[in-house]
Amino acid sequence: MFSLKNLSARLNALAQCITGKPRSRSPISDRALIIRDSNIRDAARLVSQLPGITNLGQGLPEYPAPQILKDAAVAAINADWNQYSNTWGYPQLREAIAGKMKHYNGVDADPETEITVTVGASEALNASLLATVNPGDEVIIFEPFYENYHPNVAICGGTPRYVKLHSPTWTFDRKELAAAFNKRTRVILINTPHNPTGRVFTMEELSFIADLCKKWDVLAITDEIYEYMVYDGRKHISMATLPGMRDRTITISGLSKTFSITGWRLGYAVAPEKYTRALRKVHDYLTLAAPSPMQIAGITALNMPDEFYAEMVAKYQQMRDQICQVAQEAGFEFAQKPEGTYYLFTDPSKLGFENDRKLWEHLLYDHKLATVAGYCFFRPDAKTNHIRFCYAKSEKTINAAKEKLIAFRDGQIEGQ
Ligand code: PMP
Ligand code: GLN
Repeated sequence: MFSLKNLSARLNALAQCITGKPRSRSPISDRALIIRDSNIRDAARLVSQLPGITNLGQGLPEYPAPQILKDAAVAAINADWNQYSNTWGYPQLREAIAGKMKHYNGVDADPETEITVTVGASEALNASLLATVNPGDEVIIFEPFYENYHPNVAICGGTPRYVKLHSPTWTFDRKELAAAFNKRTRVILINTPHNPTGRVFTMEELSFIADLCKKWDVLAITDEIYEYMVYDGRKHISMATLPGMRDRTITISGLSKTFSITGWRLGYAVAPEKYTRALRKVHDYLTLAAPSPMQIAGITALNMPDEFYAEMVAKYQQMRDQICQVAQEAGFEFAQKPEGTYYLFTDPSKLGFENDRKLWEHLLYDHKLATVAGYCFFRPDAKTNHIRFCYAKSEKTINAAKEKLIAFRDGQIEGQ
């Protein structure tokens, strides 16, 4: 199979044959070379440099963190929670995570041996993969995927095995998924609710995946960071609650999205003891520990009453409906409203742009509207035409986006 790693090894061998000397070594590792720049982060950097931008790009809530959390963080700093914590996370925070896992996810987890606090869900994903995947192992990834998954798998030397979520409904084909499992499959990465499509996997879909995991002795790593953002009365289902899956699932989540604190860098992994022991070793050497005062304030976050979540869901659902309406009017198509997350993933192919990068640039530079171009959610050489809108935004931003999308649509009509 073609890979940069193979190519580099072959070029080296060829250079050695011709010159008798090894080819001069790249100062950059093969691992780093296969990581591409992120369009999400491109957008984030440009937004901070260009004046007057309306930002529906990088997925971060525009809302301030709840005052009670800000007060808790300040109080934690003033109370001198400022040195390294227990590297697995303060025990009192792990207790709070165990309470939330039981109450919301229906998963019993021992905070002493099964819960690890990490620097965001991002680190939990890396640590989990590094702890379980050997070079050459295959990792099944649904495509489109959250852009980090490709580099996450590359970093541990795994081989991504993509299974399509088919547009426009973003569901997988059972035969295609079954065919992706084999003796080399070590992990399947699941993300529900799903970034970028907004899909929430159903019990039937998860059961089908679970049966394959059991059949092939495969570990499920499930990224549930948007677990509270599910709409129209849907319920989030954690893979670890399915029969036979508790012992073969690492559940990953975090506080970034739910509490509008993406900068606090608090995430966690909930895993059976044997996996926890391994991922804690990786975590200790990757980052040592998550920020101490934020961990203490995180306990207040996890003890928020149920009404907090209900209000958040109602607010996001309303924003979702508004962005869906205006995106549709401007010619960005989608088959169904997002079932969860705070993203709308659209098909703009009828708008006549060569690809999503070109449309993304047009929206950004000519209309001052930041979005994310779909290509970063697909394998590097895929041909794509999708635009993602993030709607975790204020009424004012959504209204500004509406005006810009209407101006875009009018410009398109005039240009015809
Ligand atoms: N998983 C998904 C699907 C995401 O969209 C994100 C983006 N925040 C993350 C993980 C990383 O979250 P964190 O801020 O906790 O690192
Ligand atoms: N998860 C967020 C997004 O999808 C932001 C994280 C990132 O910068 N990749 O936009």
